[in-house]
Amino acid sequence: MMGDLKSQNDSQKLEWLPVEKQFATLAVHGGYTGENKCFSAIVPPISVAATFEIDVPAVNRGYEYARTDNPSRKILEQKLAALDGGKYGICYSSGLAAFSAVLSLIKNGDHLICSNDVYGGTVKLIMDSVDRLGFTVDFVDFDNLEGFKKALKPETKMIFLETPANPTLRVFDLAKISKIAHDFNKDLLVVVDNTCLTSYFQRPLSFGVDLVHYSLTKYANGHADVIMGAVITNNDSLKDRLKFYQNFNGGIPSPFDCYLVTRGLKTLPIRMKAVMESSLKVAEFLLEHPKVDAVFHPALPSHGSHKLAKKQCSGHSGLMSFRIKEDAGSALEFIRELKLFQNAGSFGGCESLAELPAYFTHKAVPEATRLSLGITNNFVRLAIGLESTEDLIEDLAQALKKC
Ligand SMILES: *Cc1c(COP(=O)(O)O)cnc(C)c1O
Repeated sequence: MMGDLKSQNDSQKLEWLPVEKQFATLAVHGGYTGENKCFSAIVPPISVAATFEIDVPAVNRGYEYARTDNPSRKILEQKLAALDGGKYGICYSSGLAAFSAVLSLIKNGDHLICSNDVYGGTVKLIMDSVDRLGFTVDFVDFDNLEGFKKALKPETKMIFLETPANPTLRVFDLAKISKIAHDFNKDLLVVVDNTCLTSYFQRPLSFGVDLVHYSLTKYANGHADVIMGAVITNNDSLKDRLKFYQNFNGGIPSPFDCYLVTRGLKTLPIRMKAVMESSLKVAEFLLEHPKVDAVFHPALPSHGSHKLAKKQCSGHSGLMSFRIKEDAGSALEFIRELKLFQNAGSFGGCESLAELPAYFTHKAVPEATRLSLGITNNFVRLAIGLESTEDLIEDLAQALKKC
């Protein structure tokens, strides 16, 4: 109860950004209107055709070959664009395939500035591409905007960051970063990985960002049964390049997977509200626990990014972290004792997950970097799902007792 009161009082002082008024309506209907609507069916049919009949001489009637464009994917792409307040959505077979498409915008001799706190797979793909594609990269801490300014060079082509960062949930100021980048060079591309919050809680394009990147595998699909990615933009020439890459690199999602994500997005608003409420209650429980020495959740007034989060976001998701006091227990024991939470990577599904970044998702991060971010061996990441909050807290309590 005390926790509830604390958060209520605080949110009276400092409000989250309001959610876009039409968001829930677009989540249900976006993309499946007008000529996309088929057979008067309330939900879209799954269109499996690999090829489409065209006119003579060759003019397509909207579709010609399913790698280039197909009805199931188009419905999803238009829904995703609508939800982000963008003109174009382009889907790929995974979040990393979508990031490959983003990297294809960088040429030989270009310079990339990447946040030092992004998804591990993203870093691996960048490091694998640097020599092959002949570009250079600097990793910067976007908490330090002066440092970021110093890293900008005439040949800088792209800025890439993830906010909130995972698993520390540090929030970076998109409006300031976009302004600094575009004041330096108006053609600089600012790209944000919005996987953790989705367009329901954060709309990067509204802060001047050029491209929004997603792993739809997480909250967008929401059921941990699809791997998919997307990029959203308002820029026509970027869209042409990203569509070209989608078509000719060929990493496209299947019509069935597109149908599943289209379906998953309909409940995005209620799922995000539910995980936000639940994760905040879990955070408040952990904050009071004697074996816990730090809790990372942007909705907590004690979180370093709390103020910025409220300025930039409409809420926070179910991704959160905490640290068990070094002398109070072992995170390895804690994870073994959990009954309802499952030890697994990823997040955004209905099932709550727990994992130890130092041993799993962030194992490849150099120890010094990890420790400078506070990610010790006793650091636990939780992905709060849709189970009863009381059951989740009970599970955490019993595992903390035994660890
Ligand atoms: C999972 C994830 C990715 C990679 O997406 P896949 O769909 O697994 O390829 C990229 N960025 C973030 C923030 C992620 O969580």
